[in-house]
Amino acid sequence: MARIVMKFGGTSVADLDRIKNVARHVKREVDAGHEVAVVVSAMSGKTNELVGWVQGTPKVVGANSPFYDAREYDAVVASGEQVTSGLLAIALHAMDINARSWQGWQIPIRTDNAHGAARILEIDGADIIKRMGEGQVAVIAGFQGLGPDNRIATLGRGGSDTSAVAIAAAVKADRCDIYTDVDGVYTTDPRIVPQARRLKKIAFEEMLEMASLGAKVLQVRSVELAMVHKVRTFVRSSFEDPDAPGMGDLLNPPGTLICDEDEIVEQEVVTGIAYAKDEAQISLRRLADRPGVSAAIFGPLAESHINVDMIVQNISEDGSKTDMTFTVPSGDVEKAIKVLGENKEKIGYDVVQNESGLVKVSVIGIGMRSHAGVAATAFKALAEKGINIKAITTSEIKISILIDGPYAELAVRTLHSCYGLDKN
Ligand code: ADP
Ligand code: ASP
Ligand code: MG
Repeated sequence: MARIVMKFGGTSVADLDRIKNVARHVKREVDAGHEVAVVVSAMSGKTNELVGWVQGTPKVVGANSPFYDAREYDAVVASGEQVTSGLLAIALHAMDINARSWQGWQIPIRTDNAHGAARILEIDGADIIKRMGEGQVAVIAGFQGLGPDNRIATLGRGGSDTSAVAIAAAVKADRCDIYTDVDGVYTTDPRIVPQARRLKKIAFEEMLEMASLGAKVLQVRSVELAMVHKVRTFVRSSFEDPDAPGMGDLLNPPGTLICDEDEIVEQEVVTGIAYAKDEAQISLRRLADRPGVSAAIFGPLAESHINVDMIVQNISEDGSKTDMTFTVPSGDVEKAIKVLGENKEKIGYDVVQNESGLVKVSVIGIGMRSHAGVAATAFKALAEKGINIKAITTSEIKISILIDGPYAELAVRTLHSCYGLDKN
């Protein structure tokens, strides 16, 4: 007997039929004698609809705030998961399975106070463990917890993955299965590149890079938690027949295992390609080339919670003036330009230019640590397709390249095949 956490994403619970199908997956594990906790997302499209409703309300809370109240945003958007947790519990009852729904606050899943993008601080698993021991399936609303102000807090988009891994860690589950609409983690988004190959295993560090560089199959934080708490996490499909052979395999279920790198026998140089849309580039022209300039630029941006990513600074020809270029999410450009304008004198630049609609494509692989020439291969392949590179950043296990938006798919396909990742 094992203890298993099963998480089902939006498309897996998109309607009542799909919820019944999820119940069959749960039944399979219950019938095998396992203790089961299930984490559910909202029905697909629901969270977007709820967010749209919030954004459609007047953005005035109190006299001074230009934004809607993030605590009320959370109260609204967390409701999608409440619905699916109840519906799945009902579907399980209909199959004679003992189950009950749990909201984040009932467990409780304690978070910090960052409403809208809260982090889980602590989960009291005692009640759930007790009930599971009595044969009751815990159906838990993902994406939500309880802040220090005793109000509902949500975990950021895609946060149900993180709920699932955190619960698996809290109840010391033997396995955490993330069921979604693809049957594992692929070398790149299989919706963009049909030649993408499913990976049997991927190392935590690589999955972390893939997720933070745009592969939304797992929320970044869920990978961090799986890595820190050593949660045995699989990504697998809810769309396969729940009772097909091998689906209930305890040690080797179908899908992709996220694991330590030493569990991977044949490590490739490049494991995958990720991309992130809606990047914007901001350039400050003719800056003074003196100590303190970067601090004067990036300090105020950080204080305004603007997430700066790639940074490129030119060496000035005569040691007096230089240019600085960096990227921010497209949605933050206006705010960034405003902040830079307010600090123009302190920073000391001539003009600020910006360009939106850019895409960052990234090549990821632990094997890069010990192989030279990986970046050169990418540059050559992109050049052959006439794709212009606007900025580059590298780390030990990844190369990120900024390009014009319309070239995104071509660039992803090109990089995917130049590293031999295409399936035969
Ligand atoms: P869920 O609603 O189940 O959480 P998501 O839409 O958040 O599902 O994530 C699954 C999607 O992630 C897939 O449909 C796929 O298009 C996308 N995706 C992006 N990169 C990858 C990748 N490398 N491997 C698998 N899926 C990927
Ligand atoms: N329903 C939430 C979202 O759409 C959480 C999740 O699906 O993981 O972001
Ligand atoms: Mg998701």
